[in-house]
Amino acid sequence: MRVKKQKRHRKAVRFYAACFGFREPFKVLCDGTFVHHLLLNKITPADTALANALGAPVKIFTTRCVLGELRSLGDSYAESLNAARNLLTARCDHEKRKSAVSCITDIIGENNSEHFFVATQDAELRKKFQKVPGVPLIYGLRNALFLEQPSAFQHQFVRSVEEDHSHMTDLEYKLLNVKKKNVAFEEAKDSSDANEDKNDGTFTVQAIQTNFRKKRDLKDTVQFKRKRSKGPNPLSCKKKKPRENTNNAASVKENGNGDTTVRSRNRKRKRSRKSKNVSKANV
Ligand SMILES: [Zn+2]
Repeated sequence: MRVKKQKRHRKAVRFYAACFGFREPFKVLCDGTFVHHLLLNKITPADTALANALGAPVKIFTTRCVLGELRSLGDSYAESLNAARNLLTARCDHEKRKSAVSCITDIIGENNSEHFFVATQDAELRKKFQKVPGVPLIYGLRNALFLEQPSAFQHQFVRSVEEDHSHMTDLEYKLLNVKKKNVAFEEAKDSSDANEDKNDGTFTVQAIQTNFRKKRDLKDTVQFKRKRSKGPNPLSCKKKKPRENTNNAASVKENGNGDTTVRSRNRKRKRSRKSKNVSKANV
């Protein structure tokens, strides 16, 4: 039974955390009736008991108006007043003391923007807050603390908000329409430009074709950019040897007998001199 209760509580806490942005440590706003109940049933220390109920650390708050109301109740509530004085004080801007109910109602406001858990033994007040989105309610029953399950109204509220989020707002719808019109206008402009080109004698079908080719070429370069080998890096290569050397090598091969090129040249020169001498002698 106890485990089931704890599970229900955790589920409710998750609901408020996920749908309304409640974050740890949770803030619990107590009225005089709740503080009195805690003392009567010896549910102390209160922060430990509330932390166990919510499954997370808590900070306990009250208001100046609540303290004032407890004070006005006389000696029978003196102990509760002392206990409540030790709690944190949630700020309310009531210069003149209000009833605890109206003070807490003011603090919670329309949507509980401060993310308070409200702890009260006042069944009427709890009923009232069930109609406000995002107000988790805590109450005591004898020596046990209970977190009320989210009301049907709160579930409905979350569902409607989710639906709103899943649809486009009016502004978004208008923006989308404007964008559609712009796109349609651009397309129409493009096509009319093309028509003008056709009608103009100088820009005929050829012009369109070249345009098309340009576009296609551009596309091709982007799509099929391949790395091709461009041969070795010329800077890293040795310089080609001058031709003479190659000739010499060839002549060495031709001679084959180990004659150097210089010798063969000298021979040639000698031969030519001899022939010249012969020709001179002949003359
Ligand atoms: Zn107040």
